[in-house]
Amino acid sequence: MPQDDRSFDVETDLLVVGAGAAGMTAALVAALEGLDVILCEKSDMVGGTTATSAGTVWIPGNREGQRAGTPDTVEAARIYLAAMLGAQATDERLDMFLEAGPIVLDYLAQRTSVQFAAPPVHPDYKNLPGAAIGGRALGAVPFDGRKLGDDFDRIRPPRREFMVLGGMMVGKTDIPPLLAPFRSWTHFKHVIGLLTRHALDRLSYKRGTPDHGQCTCRQTV
Ligand SMILES: Cc1cc2nc3c(=O)[nH]c(=O)nc-3n(C[C@H](O)[C@H](O)[C@H](O)COP(=O)(O)OP(=O)(O)OC[C@H]3O[C@@H](n4cnc5c(N)ncnc54)[C@H](O)[C@@H]3O)c2cc1C
Repeated sequence: MPQDDRSFDVETDLLVVGAGAAGMTAALVAALEGLDVILCEKSDMVGGTTATSAGTVWIPGNREGQRAGTPDTVEAARIYLAAMLGAQATDERLDMFLEAGPIVLDYLAQRTSVQFAAPPVHPDYKNLPGAAIGGRALGAVPFDGRKLGDDFDRIRPPRREFMVLGGMMVGKTDIPPLLAPFRSWTHFKHVIGLLTRHALDRLSYKRGTPDHGQCTCRQTV
């Protein structure tokens, strides 16, 4: 009798391959929705290319853009994409992306620690009909890596170019104070705060723990 080779050591509702932003978000949402999930990662760290990227997401018509004072519509983005892509703009995946994008952001904002914010000015790359000055390009709100405990070491670090002073991640709002710390009392206080936190972090961690957008995925169920 031939052996039935359709037996399994482990059964799961969803098997996700790859722990970058795509895989971790899929696994996170599935787990929140009650599925039993296995997330496989071939390397010894999570984060993938996402962790070493600039971390900006482009999602038109989102709530964070409205909050930042740059209201936008999906219709305007559709016009922009049509001007940019021409005949390819009929791909039905574009409709899916435009419709689902804001829903995904709202879901993550309400159910997880993954939060995004829109800088007031972050123009679309091409000056075409429907282009926006800001609101579509979002960055992840810094996440306190200390909350991950020992798992912090399992997150792929950013590129060295994105860090200073041996592992300090710098966000866009940190750059003006760091470049001119003595310009104002506010700048000075900001820089002292950054350096103090970094010095304390380095007593316990291999790098600074405030995570500015690179791989902020963390499940909060
Ligand atoms: C310097 C830089 C800056 C960038 N900036 C931006 C930006 O600002 N905005 C933007 O939208 N995009 C940016 N990108 C592109 C963006 O980073 C990628 O498109 C995105 O991170 C891809 O995400 P992902 O989850 O699909 O894949 P990844 O984040 O690469 O994750 C894939 C994971 O799968 C794992 N894996 C692969 N094969 C297997 C296997 N067989 N079994 C198990 N695990 C496997 C990998 O080890 C990895 O951890 C940038 C890229 C770079 C390099």
